[in-house]
Amino acid sequence: KIELRNVYKRFEKAHVIENLNLVIEDGEFVALLGPSGCGKSTTLLMLAGIYKPTEGDILFDGQLVNEVEPKDRHIGMLFQSYALYPHMTVLENIMFPLKQMKVPKKERIERAKEAAALVKLEHLLDRLPSELSGGQQQRVALARAVVKEPKLLLLDEPLSNLDARLKIEMREEIKRIQQELGITTVMVTHDQEEALTMADRVAIMKDGELVQYSKPLDLYHHPKNYFVAHFIGSPP
Ligand code: ATP
Ligand code: MG
Repeated sequence: KIELRNVYKRFEKAHVIENLNLVIEDGEFVALLGPSGCGKSTTLLMLAGIYKPTEGDILFDGQLVNEVEPKDRHIGMLFQSYALYPHMTVLENIMFPLKQMKVPKKERIERAKEAAALVKLEHLLDRLPSELSGGQQQRVALARAVVKEPKLLLLDEPLSNLDARLKIEMREEIKRIQQELGITTVMVTHDQEEALTMADRVAIMKDGELVQYSKPLDLYHHPKNYFVAHFIGSPP
C-alpha cells in the first residue's frame, strides 16, 4: 500500500504540489490525469524517491520511501523517451537492471528471456534498438521495467510517442502485463481516454492539487465540478 500524506513540493518559490493526499492499494492501477504543468511528473518522481517532498510523507507499506535504500524500493520505471542503450542488444537492454542487482548471469539471461516473451519480442533478442520500430522499442523498455519483478511500476506518458494504432495496442499490452504480474502501477497521462480505459482509479490534478480521485465510471457520471466534467468529457 502506498500513501501520500499532506505532500507539498516547492522549487524555490514555485509551489508545484499542494497538500496531496492519495492512497494506492496493492495491485491497483492508478492514473494521474491532468493538464500540462499540473505536477504529474513531479508526483511520479517523488513516488520514485528521486524527489523528496518539501513537506509531508510518502509511505510504502508504512515506511518512508526516502528511508528505503533505492535497491530495496523495487520500482520499475518507463518514461516517454524510453532511452534504450543504443550499443546493447534487446536482450542486453532487458538484462541490464538485473546486472545492476548482481543477479548471476545464467539467471539474468533466463529472466530477461521471460520478460521478452511477455512483450512478444522473443524473436528479436539479438537486434539493436536502431533496428526496431518505435513500438518494438517501447516493448523493450517495458520488458526492462518489469524484469526486476517490481512491486511498483511507474509510467510517465509511456504511449505519447506512438501512433494511434500502436497506442491502443500498447495500452492493452501494458494492462495485460500489469494484471498478469499483479504490479501496483501509477501512470501519468494527459489523455483522458487512456486514463479511463486503463486505470482502476483516476486521480485528477489541477495546479498541483488533487481535484477528484475516483473510479472511471464515477468520474464520468459524477464529476465533482465543471473542470473535471470538461476534462473528462462527461455528458452535460
Ligand atoms: P506535463 O504534462 O507537461 O508533463 P506535468 O503535469 O508532468 O506536465 P511537472 O513536470 O510535474 O508537470 O511540472 C509541474 C510544474 O513544476 C511546472 O510548472 C514546472 O515548470 C515546475 N517544475 C518541475 N520541475 C521543476 C524543477 N526541477 N525546478 C523548477 N520547477 C520545476
Ligand atoms: Mg510530465
